Amino acid sequence: SGNIICSLRRNLGSSSRLRSRMPAWVIDEYGNNGVLRFTEDATAPSVNSASEVLIQVHAASLNPLDISMRSGYGSNLLKLRWDPVSLGQNGGEFPIILGRDVSGVVVDCGSGVTHFKPGDEVWAAIPPWKQGSLAEMVNLTEYEVSHKPRSLSHKEAASIPYVAATALSALVNAGGLCRNHCTNKRVLITGASGGVGTFSIQLLKAWGAHVTVTCSHNAEGLVRGLGADEVVDYTAGDVATELGLLEKFDVILDNVGGDSEQWALGLLKSWSGAKYVTLVTPFLLNIDSMGLLEGAVHSGLNLHQKVITNMCNGVFYRWGFYAPDGPALDEVSQLVDAGKILPVVEATFLFSQVPLAFQKVEGGHARGKTVVTVA
Ligand code: NDP
Repeated sequence: SGNIICSLRRNLGSSSRLRSRMPAWVIDEYGNNGVLRFTEDATAPSVNSASEVLIQVHAASLNPLDISMRSGYGSNLLKLRWDPVSLGQNGGEFPIILGRDVSGVVVDCGSGVTHFKPGDEVWAAIPPWKQGSLAEMVNLTEYEVSHKPRSLSHKEAASIPYVAATALSALVNAGGLCRNHCTNKRVLITGASGGVGTFSIQLLKAWGAHVTVTCSHNAEGLVRGLGADEVVDYTAGDVATELGLLEKFDVILDNVGGDSEQWALGLLKSWSGAKYVTLVTPFLLNIDSMGLLEGAVHSGLNLHQKVITNMCNGVFYRWGFYAPDGPALDEVSQLVDAGKILPVVEATFLFSQVPLAFQKVEGGHARGKTVVTVA
């Protein structure tokens, strides 16, 4: 790692702008942590169309998706969506650069970019079909990027975009919530101590909702500090019975999956538009194991059957997904600068320590986010 640090110092120095090669962590095949490879010689992105923004990465963060993508999760579908300019020389997806969050500085803009200029501090969640932020530079379209909150360092800012974009998509698009429509809403968040959960608690409290969460005993202080009104320790006993003693919920955001939906759906108010949104869906797994067509059809039928069954019981069943949304991050930026949303950074690693950062996230039991400082 000494060599890596030396080469990083050389490469991340003042002459780093607009070169054709750059330092990055890449994978050349899917597998365990051993497939992560540092190189000084990755293809540096450049602005290729009018709407693109080239960003020098200052900090990145890791999500469970990075661990899954490293192992090949979603590859059947993502292969079809890989940005053609990101594809390797042989037309395949390798080498892939992981990392879905970036906080950094704009170094170049396409001719049609109106909201950003070189020198702007920005943050963004990077769609899984684009090259990621464990690199010196990343290229995104203007619509995926937002001005970074002024009150946060790059390290803090990098902890937020991907979980924020996911939580907003799940709570707003699937859950039907919005900032003007939350004051009398009771929301349950399962798995609230991780990245999506710690962000969602704060967003929902900023919007005025009543928030109940499930987490382990040793995360209670964290989630209460972020504003959770009621906390149920899922390790202490039967979580379903405990939650069943409480008033019913308008929205459930499920970050845990597994058998949660078997007991959680019964905790919703019936016949009042209540929604269960799970982020843990079999969609990509089905496509990985069955192929594109069969996997998509199987997933569609599976979802349809659950939607219909639950509709008959007076509740909505939905799958939630990350969706790229720069403008939504503008709103988050304002909430952060107003002190209503705090970054929750559990661990920080240097760029030379990326495999350790993966190990940390792979170990589970997150309490917020794991960040990598790049520049
Ligand atoms: P994290 O790993 O950051 O957090 C998960 C949290 O859940 C941990 O704090 C863990 O702590 C806790 N947990 C584990 N088991 C339980 C349980 N039975 N009850 C309550 N809490 C539990 O993940 P993220 O927050 O980033 O993401 C949450 C889920 O959403 C992940 O499965 C992720 O893959 C998925 N996701 C899906 C997206 C999509 O587009 N569909 C996008 C983003 C995320 P502990 O084990 O110590 O209790």
